[in-house]
Amino acid sequence: MTQQYDLIIIGGGIVGAAAAYRAVRRGARTLLLDRRDPGRATHAGAGILAPPVSNHRSPIWFDFAVEAVDYYPLLVGQLAEDAAGETGYARCGMLNVAATEDELDAFAAAEANIFARQQARGAPSSDALHRVTPAEAKALFPPLAHVHAALYYRDACRVDGRLLTDAMTRAAAGQGLTVENRSAERLILEAGRVQGVEAGGEEIHAGAVIIAGGAWSPAFGRQLGVAINVEPQRGQIIHWDLSPQEAEAWPIVGAFRGHYMLTFPGGRVVTGATRETGSGYAPTTSAAGIREVIDEALRVAPGLAQARLLEVRVGLRPFTHDGLPVLGSVPGTENVILATGHGPSGLQLGPYSGLIAAEMALGDESPADIAPFSVTRFG
Ligand SMILES: Cc1cc2nc3c(=O)[nH]c(=O)nc-3n(C[C@H](O)[C@H](O)[C@H](O)COP(=O)(O)OP(=O)(O)OC[C@H]3O[C@@H](n4cnc5c(N)ncnc54)[C@H](O)[C@@H]3O)c2cc1C
Repeated sequence: MTQQYDLIIIGGGIVGAAAAYRAVRRGARTLLLDRRDPGRATHAGAGILAPPVSNHRSPIWFDFAVEAVDYYPLLVGQLAEDAAGETGYARCGMLNVAATEDELDAFAAAEANIFARQQARGAPSSDALHRVTPAEAKALFPPLAHVHAALYYRDACRVDGRLLTDAMTRAAAGQGLTVENRSAERLILEAGRVQGVEAGGEEIHAGAVIIAGGAWSPAFGRQLGVAINVEPQRGQIIHWDLSPQEAEAWPIVGAFRGHYMLTFPGGRVVTGATRETGSGYAPTTSAAGIREVIDEALRVAPGLAQARLLEVRVGLRPFTHDGLPVLGSVPGTENVILATGHGPSGLQLGPYSGLIAAEMALGDESPADIAPFSVTRFG
């Protein structure tokens, strides 16, 4: 049996593309199989990169998210050297606001959590993370309502998930990556080892396989004899147009009913999103979902009322009930790495998870402690 590739990656979202980019930089002969399902999460992701002001309660998630976001400048720098094109990555800051009085309790609880983490780690500095007055908040984000409380984190960043994924794939292709837009139907397994993938009736042999199929990854669980407890969670997100007004320098805004807004060049404002657990795989919009997103955006930022609506995007987050990704090897089966389950934080964690998956698939240790992300936790 001839090995055609060192590595096959199933899935070309942010995680698979990051793994591919890392693998080819290491000189591995790599094939990326991507079915480009409608509803792939990366194409709808908002792009908020701000672990220090996250409401996520898990310290395990938090430590990993900080490492993952710290990897971004290196990655973006490498892509710039490769002339891979725009990524939309920029430091823009973030405001967490209590827009109305009923949010003050949630604001206080989140603030206590955020400041406790800040104190315990000695970072970010109080220059970078501190309270601002409602008037200061409005000066930073002019369409904002008169809020009741606001916390400002200067070093929050944003990224355009589509652009970044395209840039990684393009740069990797320039260095020898093969990309095929077709479905991986099953793994080729022999004596407890993955030997490759069957796609379109064709057997393709490789030294290792990474499964980065987002919400569709559980399809491989039965063959591997494990439950990959990842499910689709639909998110509807709306893009608005404020041009010719420039909004690019405005911070991200997060409030306390699970919604947020952020801006991109060209007067584009992105507001979202619904979190529809149990949605199934249909990547469709709904009147209720769109109303929810618009109502919430205008409650927090009434100054957006005259903006033009550009589009509604729908993505299926690869959701896990414990909020942790599924990353690492599969007990009992050699040569396969899982890299999925990044839920609502895959743009933050995904590039680093992709790097880790590539390192492991090519025979190295993970640079981070990923034991808590093992698929074995699902039993
Ligand atoms: C509305 C919304 C807002 C979000 N906002 C943020 C945010 O602000 N910050 C943040 O960090 N995260 C955010 N996320 C989460 C983030 O977008 C996801 O966690 C991340 O994009 C998941 O990437 P992925 O590569 O695992 O999956 P996907 O992007 O879904 O890609 C999986 C790919 O695998 C392919 N595939 C699957 N099975 C096969 C197969 N058998 N053969 C071939 N190809 C296959 C699919 O077609 C797809 O192209 C948001 C998500 C949504 C929906």
